[in-house]
Parts: sequence; structure tokens; C-alpha cells
Amino acid sequence: MAIDCGLPSPLGPPAGEKDVKALQFIQEMTHNTDSVQERVLCEILSRNADTEYLRRFQLNGATDRDTFKSKVPVVTYEDLQPDIQRVANGDRSSIFSSHPISEFLTSSGTSAGERKLIPTTGEEMDRRQLLYSLLMPVMNLYMPGLDKGKGLYFLFIKAETKTPGGLVARPVLTSYYKSQQFKNRPYDPYNVYTSPNEAILCPDSFQSMYTQMLCGLIMRHEVLRVGAVFASGLLRAIRFLQLNWQQLALDISAGTLNPKITDPSVKDSMAKILKPDPELADFITKECSGGNWEGIITRIWPNTKYLDVIVTGAMAQYIPTLDYYSGGLPKVCTMYASSECYFGLNLNPICKPSEVSYTIMPNMGYFEFLPHDDSSSPSTLSRDPPPRLVDLADLEVGKYYELVITTYSGLCRYRVGDILQVTGFHNKAPQFRFVRRKNVLLSIDSDKTDEAELQKSIENASVLLKEFKTSVVEYTSFADTKSIPGHYVIYWELLMKDPSNPPTNEVLNQCCLAMEESLNSVYRQGRVADHSIGPLEIRVVKNGTFEELMDYAISRGASINQYKVPRCVSFTPIMELLDSRVVSVHFSPAAPHWTPERRH
Ligand code: AMP
Repeated sequence: MAIDCGLPSPLGPPAGEKDVKALQFIQEMTHNTDSVQERVLCEILSRNADTEYLRRFQLNGATDRDTFKSKVPVVTYEDLQPDIQRVANGDRSSIFSSHPISEFLTSSGTSAGERKLIPTTGEEMDRRQLLYSLLMPVMNLYMPGLDKGKGLYFLFIKAETKTPGGLVARPVLTSYYKSQQFKNRPYDPYNVYTSPNEAILCPDSFQSMYTQMLCGLIMRHEVLRVGAVFASGLLRAIRFLQLNWQQLALDISAGTLNPKITDPSVKDSMAKILKPDPELADFITKECSGGNWEGIITRIWPNTKYLDVIVTGAMAQYIPTLDYYSGGLPKVCTMYASSECYFGLNLNPICKPSEVSYTIMPNMGYFEFLPHDDSSSPSTLSRDPPPRLVDLADLEVGKYYELVITTYSGLCRYRVGDILQVTGFHNKAPQFRFVRRKNVLLSIDSDKTDEAELQKSIENASVLLKEFKTSVVEYTSFADTKSIPGHYVIYWELLMKDPSNPPTNEVLNQCCLAMEESLNSVYRQGRVADHSIGPLEIRVVKNGTFEELMDYAISRGASINQYKVPRCVSFTPIMELLDSRVVSVHFSPAAPHWTPERRH
């Protein structure tokens, strides 16, 4: 059935009636970007007109863009925090939204060391579901035959808590996987997973990963795509295979289940899948025992057509490792989303990671853009008068913008913190390269550590050096992702006032832990619950190293007056210089504290 779906160089026709509808919806939304945006804003402002938040700005019933832009301020999470706290404490009045707040989504972005709490409403789940429903119809245009097998996706839930007022607080994907929309999804031959729901929904990360891997191995010939949300998650799964293949092979050989799997619903669901298969166990042993992991994904899952993982933004650091394990399979980044709002999708999924562009769907929220110039980044905006932001349909190709959103759940002109570059248009809808999240210095998984957090953690750790009359005079850092899980490396140059009494090895190890203790809760959760981040490492460098670093920068053209020590490095010659001056290496001896409960 040939329809002009208007998408770039599709290889095949839409895969069915349902896909035709989805593709037509994308076309309709992207042809009418501006009018859809106008309608979305009007809907949001009409329905939320009587909320406490909007009443403060005296829109007096206006729902047009001009009034909205002139009266409602652009805000950050911190501006909204007092009102969000009221909701968290149990205030059920219509503060942000006329619809009741159903739960809080806990963002991987933090504020004062804790995950941001994003209020959401029940119907937002449907909006997210709608965006998900567009992904396979687009993919099917480029990759025919995905209904002939399954997807091996490593999907996990995370811990949830209750706010003092009794609302659930959890990450958006945990909320989604636990929703009826996900659990009771109708059978769709294009979207069959090897993992049973019970394995995905198991709160214990070991049991969940173990059984998802086991299912993936058992159904190895059926697997057509392998994925996780982020590249780091897929690499963690490969690492898990490296560490656990022997036990997995044992289970497959005997048709029994590792006694560490104790969750009753997981055990029940695995009982239906497991059967003794010594031949498969031998195969896995043969592939894994030699210590050669190159191309392991395609060796074990030979029918894999692509990897479905986000490799844009901070995840780009994992591309070479993914290529190593998969023999360079295509890496497909399907969508761009956040706890605050799901934004859009990639209409040209089989492209190089460096060319990935996301098309924001104008029905998802009302989107505005703050022109962004790296040299004069507008970091603080005065509340009065509000700056004139650019609308979705009016963006210019090549320019950089910061994303500002207004959502049905009641966030108004909220700065997400993402910097995007317009790469082109699909119909009237701009397409964006994800450039970066503002202020992120270090990231291994979903953790985001900024310069202030790093500085504070170093100050806290330095307290331990006082009794040795030692201080940290300079430091820099990098995210070491050569081994999985990756870890933070911090280079320290120390000043010892009493060289006869240097800080002991033990104390420097404790400094690593002290740093970890003061990093944000997403980092500590990664260390403790997800095991997605390894122990923090301090490398003490020789005195004078940072001066050499400056000399090097100046020799390459930096101005001596403007030179500032980079607080994060990734440029190979600089890393080589630093590493050649290392005098001692220290690792965190224990995991930092973390519980799902917030510290304040
Ligand atoms: P969270 O609120 O924890 O769901 O994190 C959302 C943030 O993750 C976004 O604001 C982006 O900074 C980042 N993110 C989400 N999707 C992508 C993507 N496709 N590529 C790069 N970064 C992304």
C-alpha cells in the first residue's frame, strides 16, 4: 500500500494500516506545526486558567501567544520549587494544573543534590504512549521484517518513594513500565520483547538483569534488535554476560534457575520459558570462555539488525565500545524525551550517530526557544521583562537554542536545560541535533554532575587532609568509560606543608569516598543500586603538573590572562600529560550512602 508518507528515503512501504495512520499523523503534525502549537497553548491555558500559578500572572482568560509571552515569566526548576514542595507536602489545590497531580516523576536532573520532582497528571501517560506508538511505524519504513522476530531490550524499574503528602515519586520509565498501558499492551507483532513483564518489573536489579539475559540467550535466533534506553545500559548488560555466562550456561543446560532468583513472579514466568538445552549451553560456553568479546552481540544474536540505544549527548562516549561488541551494527536513536515532557522522535533512524536529529512533535506541549550563544550564554534571566523567545515554527537552521517548555501538566515556560541545534526541517517542523545538557561536567550513566557539585565534593573530601596540613591546590576530572561500568577520575595536585607527614594511602582512599558521599543522589544511586558507576578514583599528580597544563594550553594559543584550569578534560594529549605525572592512585573503598528517600 503506497502512501506518500513524506519521510526521507524510506526503503519500504508502511507495514500496515496502523502504520499508515501513525505516519499520516506525523505528517499532519509536522505540516501544521505552527497552528498545532497555537492550539496546544490555547488548550493548556484554557484548562489551567484557574490554577494558582497562572492566576498570578493575570492572563484574564487570554490564551494567545502574545499575552502569554508578555505576562508569564521564563523559569527554572528552582523558581517552582516552593510550589512543588507544597504539592509534595499534600496540598491538593490546583496549583499547576486543573487535572489532579497523579504522581511525581523524579528526573535525573538534580536540584540541591536530589532528583527534581516533576508533577504529572494521568493523561500525560497517554501522550507519552502516543509518541511511543509512532516509533515502530517509522522504523518499519527503514527495516522491513521486524515482525518476524523479537527485541531483546534490557529494561529496568527503579525504586520509588512517597512524598510527605502521599504522592508516589519515581522515574518516568518506572512509571511507564508499571502502567496498564505497558503491562497490558495489546499484542503487536512488531513489538514483541524477549523479556517477560515480570523480569522487567522485578525491583531487584540483579534478578531483573539475569532473567532478561537468560531469556535473550534462550531466544537468541529470534532476536532481531538489541537495545536498552541508553548506550550505558546495553554495555552494562554485556558486562553482566561477561561476569555471569557460566551460571547462565548452567541454567540453560539443566533447564533450572539460578537460586539467586527468588522473586516468585519472575520464577513463575521463567518456569514457562526454561527447558534443558545442552547444545545452546555449549554454544554459549564456546563463545564466552575464550575471553574474546569482540563482536559478541552478533555472535550470540546473529540476526540482530540494529542496536536500539541512545548514543547522542553524553552517551556518544560509548559509541566505540558498542561498535567493538557489535561489529559496527547500526545504532538507532529513536526518541528524545524527558520527565517533564516527551519531545519527539528521529524520522531518519538509520543514520550515523553524529547525524541524528530529532523532530519535536508539536502536539506534545508548547515549545519555545531561547537563542543560545556559547560565548555569552544567558545564564540568569531577570523575571521582568520576560525575554522574547522564538516559536517552534520560526527557528533558523544552524542556530543553537535552549529548550523552554509549557506542558499540559502545568509547567509554564520552563527551562529544561537542553541545548539544541536546528539541522533542518521535516515539513514545517524543525529537526534538532542534541548538543548538550547545560552545566554537565561529568556523566557515566544518567548521572549529571556539574562544576559546583564537583567543587563542593572536593571541599568536603579535603577536610580529611587537614590533619596532614595538606590541601588540594588544583584539580580536574574526567569520565573514564574504558571499563564498564565507567567511573569518575579526579586528578589532584596537593600542597603539603609538612612533607614529613604526608596523607596516608588510607586517608586518600577515604577522600574518594568522601567525594562520593557529597555527590548528588542520582550518582549515589548509580553506585549503590544500579551498579552503573564504578568506585571514584583520585589520581594524585606531581607538583607543578597544572602549571605544565597551562603552559601546554598557552602553547596552543590560549591567552595567559584568560586561562582557567579546565575542570573536566577529555583531550588525549592533556590526559597523557596528566597520566604521566601521576604519583599515586586511590579508589573509593566502599559504596556511598544512598536510599530512595530524599535527604530533605
Ligand atoms: P530525565 O528527566 O531524567 O528523563 O532526563 C531527560 C534528559 O535526558 C533530557 O532533558 C536530555 O538532557 C537527556 N536526553 C533525553 N533523550 C535524549 C536523547 N535522545 N539524546 C540525548 N540526550 C537525551
